[in-house]
Amino acid sequence: MTTMIAPPDNVLNGYGTLKSIVGASNALFPSVPNFHDYLKDETYLRGNAHLILRPATHAEVTEIIHTINALREKIPRAAHFFSLTLRGGGSGLSGAAVPEAGIVLDTSRMKKILEIDPKNFIIRAECGITLAEINHALADLPLYYAVDPSSAPLCTLGGSIATNAAGPSSLKYGTTRQNLASLCFVNAEGNTATVGSLPTKTSMGFSLTDLLCGSEGRLGIILDAALRLTFKTEERVLLIAPFPNDASAMDFVFSLRQSGIRPKCVEFIDAYSIAIAAIHENAKAILLIELDGTKEQVDYDLKRLMAISPHLDFHVAHGEKNQTQIWQKRKSITTELKKRFAFKLGEDIAVPLSALSHIASFARNKASERGVETAIWGHAGDGNLHVNYLLQEKSALEILDTLMLELAFEVTRIGGAISGEHGLGRLKRKLAKATLPSVYFQIQDQIKKAFDPNFLFNPALDKEEV
Ligand SMILES: Cc1cc2nc3c(=O)[nH]c(=O)nc-3n(C[C@H](O)[C@H](O)[C@H](O)COP(=O)(O)OP(=O)(O)OC[C@H]3O[C@@H](n4cnc5c(N)ncnc54)[C@H](O)[C@@H]3O)c2cc1C
Repeated sequence: MTTMIAPPDNVLNGYGTLKSIVGASNALFPSVPNFHDYLKDETYLRGNAHLILRPATHAEVTEIIHTINALREKIPRAAHFFSLTLRGGGSGLSGAAVPEAGIVLDTSRMKKILEIDPKNFIIRAECGITLAEINHALADLPLYYAVDPSSAPLCTLGGSIATNAAGPSSLKYGTTRQNLASLCFVNAEGNTATVGSLPTKTSMGFSLTDLLCGSEGRLGIILDAALRLTFKTEERVLLIAPFPNDASAMDFVFSLRQSGIRPKCVEFIDAYSIAIAAIHENAKAILLIELDGTKEQVDYDLKRLMAISPHLDFHVAHGEKNQTQIWQKRKSITTELKKRFAFKLGEDIAVPLSALSHIASFARNKASERGVETAIWGHAGDGNLHVNYLLQEKSALEILDTLMLELAFEVTRIGGAISGEHGLGRLKRKLAKATLPSVYFQIQDQIKKAFDPNFLFNPALDKEEV
């Protein structure tokens, strides 16, 4: 956390004008007890800000931008007091919503469902609604929104688009990007535009939905979005497959994918995390494999899957209640680890399937050489692993810089991605800059300037260091 410079009087007057847009109860100043809740996400980073604004409508958001632009013009040297760090549910794992100064724009009051269109398999909703609330609204329909991050009750539609969030079922149903039809956003000049289209097929120049998706709030404020819906399936089974070590579980993932079976999810959980979540008594590694489809299809896939390694002792969980309990245990791992360790830093690498086993042992061995404990789990079916470094002392955080850099180089060397779903944020941008070619960032910077030339949105993400 850096020391905060107090805003001068002309800036405070400007804050007064902004307060009048959202109303006094939705403009929070540092003296308010819960102010600090808006200066963090789910990483260990803590930031600084001068004002929190909580608009409830699109009109309020655009008025805020127009007012800020006028204030920036009037008081040019105070631009940093008039920057906007965008915030959804604050559940991010990369520090992207952690402000450095200026104003936090909290979008969580904008949560209306605008339209449910079952004929075209679409739901349109405002940015501040959570993904769990979206599926709650669809409960009576045969359709649902298939993107299923473990944080669905916390994360907002806007935040999930801005990070291109994903989850276990992205293996079969895709990430946010593949399930996003269109979105309405407001740019740094305060102009709104709806981009994308309801049909899946479009060929209309550069895809602005694809640019906004994963933009980490650097290009504009996503106000609402139309999402593609998936049919609920007739049958679902969940298998727990125990293995004697990480490598044999990862090898099974490879054989399973080679078999042509299309599971909904294939999750890997290591021994440390199994014990934390109390999922299985004796296994040193497990895979959770979910199959869905018609009853015939699931039965057929189940037989083929079991034939891959007939000696494996699969436990098959039938029924919604059993399956939900197992998933809840899997999803509790992050929260349980955070209770036990003062610092938990989760890597979110994605690698080609053939390199899964190599990268897991690379990460674990490098960490153990430096005395750092690890817990590894993740969406192994699509090569996405969460390598979690677990620390009790803040002083040990320095070691993580080396570990994260070594892992980033290795992941990049084998053709993988430093982040599969959480984003670069403030924590991983410098790793990306160290490992990726400079032209990658030159082009990204040019895109940023085309949308937001005066660094109105999330300026901390354009700084080199945390
Ligand atoms: C227990 C736990 C489990 C998790 N599991 C998963 C998982 O399975 N898969 C996964 O992908 N992630 C997971 N996450 C990470 C996190 O939930 C996601 O990154 C999520 O998409 C963030 O959404 P949010 O609304 O909380 O966004 P925030 O954390 O508030 O912000 C994230 C980014 O989005 C930007 N942003 C927010 N709203 C808008 C908007 N309206 N317009 C433009 N930009 C905006 C912010 O500026 C920031 O850059 C998990 C987190 C936790 C704590």
